[in-house]
Amino acid sequence: MRVSKVLKAICGFSREVVVIGVGVISGPRPVLEIHVRSKLRRRGRCGRCGQLGSWFDNGGGARRWRHVDAGFATVELVAVGRRVDCTGCGPTVAAVPWARHDSAFTRAFEDLVVHDAIVGNKAAAAVRYGISWRAVNNACVRLATEALDRVDLLDGVTAIAIDEVKYKKGQRYLTVVCDHATGKVIWAAKGRSRATVGQFFDALGDRADGLEFVTADGAAWIRDVVAVRAPNAIVCLDTFHVIGWAIDALDVVRRQEWNRLRQAGAAGAAKEFKGLRFLLRRNWENLAPGQRAVIDRLARANRRTFRAHQLKEELRDIFALPPTAARWALDQWLAWASRSKLAPFVRLARTIRTYRPSIEATLEWRLTNGIAESNNASIGRIRTNARGFHDPHAFITMIMLDRAGLNPQLPWDHAA
Ligand SMILES: [Zn+2]
Repeated sequence: MRVSKVLKAICGFSREVVVIGVGVISGPRPVLEIHVRSKLRRRGRCGRCGQLGSWFDNGGGARRWRHVDAGFATVELVAVGRRVDCTGCGPTVAAVPWARHDSAFTRAFEDLVVHDAIVGNKAAAAVRYGISWRAVNNACVRLATEALDRVDLLDGVTAIAIDEVKYKKGQRYLTVVCDHATGKVIWAAKGRSRATVGQFFDALGDRADGLEFVTADGAAWIRDVVAVRAPNAIVCLDTFHVIGWAIDALDVVRRQEWNRLRQAGAAGAAKEFKGLRFLLRRNWENLAPGQRAVIDRLARANRRTFRAHQLKEELRDIFALPPTAARWALDQWLAWASRSKLAPFVRLARTIRTYRPSIEATLEWRLTNGIAESNNASIGRIRTNARGFHDPHAFITMIMLDRAGLNPQLPWDHAA
């Protein structure tokens, strides 16, 4: 087997790539330099717009692209950066089969970097490949932009969830839209206001006519805009949010009881109480037997908190029932909450009555809280992995890559 053939196989080059020379620069990390060119053609493609054009010149001479490592060596492709005379863009560097326009990395290398940035985080990817954080970030933006140009995520959507996601301390939010059919994020933008939701409907255009269901929390900034821009859509209250309200109400009861104990001088009991916060918030089925025992003990130790916890868990169970059973059970629950003598739950019962038609629509159309819940969890993970985001656009890029299904395949998976 000829050396160039071995190299082509190892580097995963397509038939479009011709190897014309090889060199090694030795060092602790050797650099394998592979001189390449595109297959000769009478005309070239503009790197920016893709139009065919006649050759213009050899540009600034040799250019280099970092490629996937081979063993201990980093691999660099070297080629003349020929330019085409594009009728639209003027003299422009021609497209090359191994790299995206304006990138110092090959496609395959860039896909690996972005893959690692999504699975882990950008800082880890930068260390792993010995490149700067900024280079990783640019690669993520380039891939997301390319993917968003290729696919239209808003096409054919009939049921969506509109939600807000915090990206930074101090009331900084993004608005995120998911498709109930696929569970994917289909749109995200900075801000949470009527104007932000308006931007989404601008992007959606005529397709808003096809929208049948919109789930959201009770916020007026979402509902009001949906009512105007998609008047035929049924607005459903995502049960995920209703359970969130119940968790908040439970937390208020717990805090009130803790303060009461503290003021009564029962310091030990109060301290034990404080640690309960996260246990009470969690779903019962996810608790270990020991943790359940702690909550069961509350039945004697603090009836009010115990009752609040029961109310929260009961509401979760109701939303898992078939619609008719859920409607009946919700009546019982509302009666129970209203006479519970727990002010936060009396208030919650009033709120649920206000939103009842929207809640019942959610139950009837089986738009379960699954997607909002799982997307919120995943988006939280993206934020945690990155240790927060200062730039909302960087956050949006990562959300789209990860949650819109735009994440790149590993290069050897799509080579075949
Ligand atoms: Zn062009």
